[in-house]
Amino acid sequence: KTINEMNESEVKKTYEKLKNQLKLWSRQYYYEDQPSVEDHIYDQNYRMLQDIENKYPDLITSDSPTQNVGSKTLPGFDKVRHDVPMLSLGDVFSKEELSEFMDNLDNNYPSIDEYNCELKIDGLAISLLYKNGNLVQGSTRGNGFIGEDITENLKTIKSIPHKLNRPIDIEVRGECYMPKESFANLNAKREHDGNSTFANPRNAAAGSLRQLDSSVTASRNLSTFMYNVADYNDLKANTQSELLDELKSLGFKINPTYEVVKNMSDVDKYIDKYTNERDGLSYGIDGIVIKENNLSLQKDIGNTVKVPKWAIAFKFPPEEVETKLNDIEWTV
Ligand code: NAD
Repeated sequence: KTINEMNESEVKKTYEKLKNQLKLWSRQYYYEDQPSVEDHIYDQNYRMLQDIENKYPDLITSDSPTQNVGSKTLPGFDKVRHDVPMLSLGDVFSKEELSEFMDNLDNNYPSIDEYNCELKIDGLAISLLYKNGNLVQGSTRGNGFIGEDITENLKTIKSIPHKLNRPIDIEVRGECYMPKESFANLNAKREHDGNSTFANPRNAAAGSLRQLDSSVTASRNLSTFMYNVADYNDLKANTQSELLDELKSLGFKINPTYEVVKNMSDVDKYIDKYTNERDGLSYGIDGIVIKENNLSLQKDIGNTVKVPKWAIAFKFPPEEVETKLNDIEWTV
C-alpha cells in the first residue's frame, strides 16, 4: 500500500516505524560512527518521512529526524554550547529539483544576482574559536546546539592554524575530513591488526576526532576545509566567495574549487565538471553545495530549525546501489 491508499491509523503506524528506524540509523551513524546502511538508503527513507510530514503536518513531533541535527554528544568530552547553531543542509537529488529550489529563491528574492558553488566535502562539521588570533577552543557540531570539546585533538591537525595572521576574535566553521589515501591506509592497517574497519572516510574522520587520546587523532592524517563563520562582524567580506578568500588570508585552508555563478545553467556545468573529476580528487565529496552569495541577503532569507533556506546540497547518485528502496517494507 502507498501512503495515499492508507487510512489515518495505518499512516500513523507507518510514520512511527519509519521515524524509529531513522532514529536508530542516525544513532549508529553519528553517535557510534558505525552506520548499518548506505547513505542513499537513509536519504530515501528520510525523504519518505518528509513526504508523510508534508501531507500530515499534525504528525510531526519534536523528536523527528526532520526537526533535529546530528546527535547528542559522547560521554567523556566536555560540552560546548554553540550560541549560533551549527545547522545541516537541505538536499536535492536531481537537477530538476535543484532548478526548482533556485527558481523559488529567485522569485522570492529578486535581488539575488549570484550563487557560490562549492564541493560538498564528505567529512564532519567542526567549529574553531579564536581569541585575539589564538585558537582557544575546537568542537564538533553535535546536535547543532551542543557539541563536544575536541580542542586538543584538533590542535594536532596541520591545516588548523594555532595563531591567525590577524589578532581577531572569530569563530570559524568548516569540514574536517580524512583524505582518501589516509583512509585506505588506516583500514588496511586495522584489517591487518584484526580490528574492525570504518565504513567510509566520513565515519573514520568522526571516529578519529572523538578520541580521548589526541595522539591517536594525530596519527590519522586528518585535514580541513573551512567555509563559514559564526558571525561576520569583524570581517570585510560581503559575499560567501569573498569570505572564503578572507579565511584563506587569515591562515585557514579553504577548498579552491569554488565558483561564483549566475544561474542554473552555470550550476549544471559545475555539477558535470565535478561529477567527472570526483574520482581524481584526493578527498571524498558527496555532492555540491549551492549558496546564495550575498551574506546580508543570506541573513534576510534565514534558516529553518534545521537548515539554511539560502543554500542547498545537490547529492550525487550512489556509486553502487546494492539495496533497492523496495527491499525495505514500510507498509503495515
Ligand atoms: P549533510 O552531510 O547531508 O549536509 C550538511 C553538512 O554538509 C554540513 O553540516 C557540513 O558539515 C557539510 N558540508 C560539507 N561541505 C560543505 C560546504 N562546502 N558548505 C557547507 N556545508 C558543507 O547533513 P548531515 O546533517 O551532516 O547528515 C545527514 C546525512 O548523513 C544524510 O543525508 C545521510 O546521507 C547521512 N546519514 C547516514 C546515515 C546512515 O545510516 N547511513 C544515518 C544518518 C545520516
